[in-house]
Amino acid sequence: MKDFLQLNEHHILITGAGSGIGRQTAVSLSEYGARLSLIDLNEDGLNKTLEMLSGSGHKAYQMDLSEIEIIEGRIKDIVAEQGPFDGYVQCAGITMTLPLNTIKYEKLDFLMKVNFYSFFELIRVLSRKGRYNAGMSIVGISSTAAECAVPAQASYSASKAAMNGVMRSAARELAQKGIRINTILPGPTKTEMYLSYLETKADTKGDIQENKHQLNYLGDNEPEDVANAIMFLLSKASRQVTGVAFPVDAGYTSC
Ligand code: NAD
Repeated sequence: MKDFLQLNEHHILITGAGSGIGRQTAVSLSEYGARLSLIDLNEDGLNKTLEMLSGSGHKAYQMDLSEIEIIEGRIKDIVAEQGPFDGYVQCAGITMTLPLNTIKYEKLDFLMKVNFYSFFELIRVLSRKGRYNAGMSIVGISSTAAECAVPAQASYSASKAAMNGVMRSAARELAQKGIRINTILPGPTKTEMYLSYLETKADTKGDIQENKHQLNYLGDNEPEDVANAIMFLLSKASRQVTGVAFPVDAGYTSC
């Protein structure tokens, strides 16, 4: 039997693993034999994810990624305990659905810390000698919001577009070290975050839910739809792919 993904024994770091897309990614990767280091703010969520995993050797680390200055020390400790990484997936993120004129700098700064600065810092820290294995692949979960405008999502859209910006430059810089980096742009995906967005009723024209989705007869993404794309980008099956913002959006950003 062929093994298309060949992720067995790969050591993968997943942030935001206590819920939604991050949790599903952890479950799916463990089924393909990967060994996982999981980060989330929510300890109960992390423990629930750990219980759902196949295989052994996985570890969970409660961490607040808005505390950028502690990230490097914590990563050093994880590498000392679990070894260098073959992959890193940034799923941790928060959303903010508010009219532009109500978003003061402090709110914007906090959102940028969680969604973008922590991604930047983790790329910086993980791409230093001794912290990665040859061929490491980085996958950041951006959003279709980085490319398609919707009302009341200015701060969220900016943070996701920033992820794509650093990804493109880093792809060129890190190629010299044999490190690949890509982002994924999910469309609406059935998780806590998307449910909380729907409650805001900000999508008054139905753009996100219906109008622009070419495959809307399939309904919204399941977390597994995004996890499958993440696993492909982590694997050697995508060894020639770097610097790409990869939509998993039923055609939403195609127009
Ligand atoms: P989710 O809310 O289910 O999961 C996000 C996780 O991030 C949670 O477990 C949360 O505890 C963790 N987190 C939040 N703040 C943190 C912090 N300061 N430190 C550490 N962990 C923190 O949401 P999800 O839908 O699974 O989202 C995963 C990623 O996908 C996010 O970056 C989100 O922006 C992106 N995304 C989601 C959708 C969607 O429709 N669900 C669409 C596009 C992009």
